[in-house]
Amino acid sequence: MNISKMFEQKKVVFSLEIFPPKKTSSLDTIYNTLEQLSGLEPDFISVTYGAGGSSANENITCSLASLIKEKYYLEPLAHLTCVNSSVTQIENVLDGLNNSNIENILALRGDKTDSSTAGEFLYASQLIQKIKQYGNFNIAAACYPECHIEAESFEEDIIHLKEKVNAGASHLISQLFFSNSDFYKFIGRSKQAGINVPIQAGIMPVTNVAQIQRMVTLCGASIPRKLIKILQKYEFDSDSLRDAGIDYAAEQIIELIENGVDGIHLYTMNNPYVARKINEKIRPAMRFINNSLN
Ligand code: FAD
Repeated sequence: MNISKMFEQKKVVFSLEIFPPKKTSSLDTIYNTLEQLSGLEPDFISVTYGAGGSSANENITCSLASLIKEKYYLEPLAHLTCVNSSVTQIENVLDGLNNSNIENILALRGDKTDSSTAGEFLYASQLIQKIKQYGNFNIAAACYPECHIEAESFEEDIIHLKEKVNAGASHLISQLFFSNSDFYKFIGRSKQAGINVPIQAGIMPVTNVAQIQRMVTLCGASIPRKLIKILQKYEFDSDSLRDAGIDYAAEQIIELIENGVDGIHLYTMNNPYVARKINEKIRPAMRFINNSLN
């Protein structure tokens, strides 16, 4: 199913994100993770592509997306990046996705690493144009509530976001953020710029200190005082930090739902326990809003 249609049918679309293991020897773990995540009844599950600077393994993203569709009858969203890739490589991936009946692609530039080559596409908007003219795919793109870390200014970043929508992105998924007010301000700026496609809020539960430090360095997300206090309080108590991180993410999501968010995209970090606990906490709000009259 074309994911953009889901936003016409539901008030809040709920999705989960997983990443493929770096080694094929760890595939059993991801199968087990998927088995558990599929029980949470997400509207779709997205699968990353070469994230974190690992060598892109286009086949594994496509295989997992295919498994999500064929085994669990859930809609997959396959991520695709263009750094380090030639046009031919991109076309091969698109052919593979098409042959596996994968309809939905999250088109991204990808994170640059020290060894990155530019690839033939410099920006995600160019990849979106390519996908659009190559096949019959539904395309989503990324957005940044606190501005992309490399952008010259917030204004420039929003202009380039609009280019992605103009090129054919039918919905946007946000980078993680920890302060909902940043997201609301970003929604205001986007609307002002004429961006009218649905925008899903990307939420990452904080479950350990090293993880949050890594993410903040990578994407520049700011950490509100309330979260800093939680991190300080439970720095040496991993179970309590995990539980507090679950509560923090669930509170963030419920507030977003109450404020009319189009969708929630949960960065599961392949942790089904955390995803399940969050799902339990947010389900009543999600059900209420999706069952309520317009
Ligand atoms: P772009 O939209 O191309 O933007 C990148 C930068 O270039 C921005 O600063 C933008 O303002 C600027 N820019 C854009 N167009 C122009 C232009 N014409 N002229 C000048 N500047 C321009 N990474 C992975 O490797 N694999 C994944 O699976 C993955 N999944 C992700 C999922 C989500 C939901 C998000 C939010 C990010 C994901 N990432 C992933 C990370 C992403 O690849 C990085 O954030 C990357 O740095 C930017 O990707 P983009 O598609 O937003 O790039």
